[in-house]
Amino acid sequence: MSSLKDGECPKCGSSKIIDNAQLADKHDNIHASDTAVRLVTRPNAIFFKDPIEFRLQPYICGGCGYLESYVEKPDRLAAHSRKLKEATDQ
Ligand SMILES: [Zn+2]
Repeated sequence: MSSLKDGECPKCGSSKIIDNAQLADKHDNIHASDTAVRLVTRPNAIFFKDPIEFRLQPYICGGCGYLESYVEKPDRLAAHSRKLKEATDQ
């Protein structure tokens, strides 16, 4: 199966892939912050929940606008997620 990450749009077949844009949460006309996924490492803590954030990297088709996004460092996210599950299962 083709993907934007592989250089071909799975929807329209275009090879015009945009990979240097950023996903952003727009708070007002000026300020924007990168969209990220968040894992709270200490969910039971009242303060200092120690969230870890991983940025999302978008790939956009320049032909039809289809968008795929990938979490940066998925191996690190998976490792933290596994650790968190082990800690909360006890
Ligand atoms: Zn497309």
